[in-house]
Amino acid sequence: MKRNLDHEVAMKYLCFCNKFLLGVHVLFFIFFAFAHVTIMTVVNIFSIVCYISSFWLLKQKKTNVLIYVTFMEIMIHMFLAVLCMGQGCGFQLYFFGCIAVVFYVDYFSVRVSNRHIAGMGMSVISALLYFIVMGITGKTVSIYPIGEKIQNTLMWINSLMVFIVCAYFYSMLTGIANYYEEELSRQANHDKLTGLVNRFYLIDYLQQVHDAGKMDKYWLAIVDIDDFKAINDRFGHNCGDYVLKSMSSIIESCCGELTACRWGGEEFVMVGAMPGGKEGETAVLETVRKTVAEREFVYEGNRIKLTITIGAAPYLENQTVDEWISVADEKLYVGKHSGKNCLII
Ligand code: GH3
Ligand code: MG
Ligand code: MG
Repeated sequence: MKRNLDHEVAMKYLCFCNKFLLGVHVLFFIFFAFAHVTIMTVVNIFSIVCYISSFWLLKQKKTNVLIYVTFMEIMIHMFLAVLCMGQGCGFQLYFFGCIAVVFYVDYFSVRVSNRHIAGMGMSVISALLYFIVMGITGKTVSIYPIGEKIQNTLMWINSLMVFIVCAYFYSMLTGIANYYEEELSRQANHDKLTGLVNRFYLIDYLQQVHDAGKMDKYWLAIVDIDDFKAINDRFGHNCGDYVLKSMSSIIESCCGELTACRWGGEEFVMVGAMPGGKEGETAVLETVRKTVAEREFVYEGNRIKLTITIGAAPYLENQTVDEWISVADEKLYVGKHSGKNCLII
């Protein structure tokens, strides 16, 4: 699904780039024709035909062929442009701009068709052609000498274009890197089923708060669904998953300033600073317990009643995080052995 979406976006993007390059070459064609640079006028007719044909390649979904054809066209065009007009017009700068583009396009190609394009190879070709054409032309040699004013104007336009291209494609690459870094860390910290933070994230977080000496007024509660295994056995695993998702919603809705976590299996943790002390914590946790006990969970026509048992403990000075969690766990154990559906605090 995700890959299809990417493919669609990529196609639109490639289509836009193709139209843009077609437009640029039409402008080049007009310019070279007016400047009587015959070779480049003819080259641009070929370029225009190339970009019109590229729409067919796009339609056939031959994206990699399209990328290579476009790359070749740019290389040939810029090489000949420097030969014809000299270095003073700045067409050689596009060889640098191409490097930013090919690595971005390489990334794009992997996302869309799972195939790399030869990004490094294309960069080497670009560099080689740059050195060859710079070697051939020297500082002053050009087939079509043109006025200094036009030369300077072209140099400004081409420099600006290359700066824009580089800035745009590098920013796209860093944008992608940042997006995936955030996405990976989000996936590593969250439980996939319920969307709550997971145990590993919570332990790290609590350890940081603990090390910063900011555990004052902190409470931790472990919430465990009673006889959850029986729900799975009776109504199936999907129903169990539905119950877990519903349970996470109930817990989250009661959390207020507290953090809700899927601790593992059918266990959740609620933790955070509770300014109201024991009374405040009792009120919040009793609300959760009663809400669950009163709720009727409906899955595929099955009406399910559930209860939870909660063990809760305040953070005590000089406790480690592990010791604190163990105290809450022991309270939960007491609750489970005193008939369940209760809060031990
Ligand atoms: P108790 O009242 O003593 O807590 O009993 P219990 O049945 O709730 O606890 P037990 O530890 O015996 O069983 C927990 C069950 O939770 C077993 C496991 O299959 C189920 N479980 C754990 N993770 C998931 C999950 O992601 N989805 C579903 N559907 N079930 C899960
Ligand atoms: Mg359990
Ligand atoms: Mg249980």
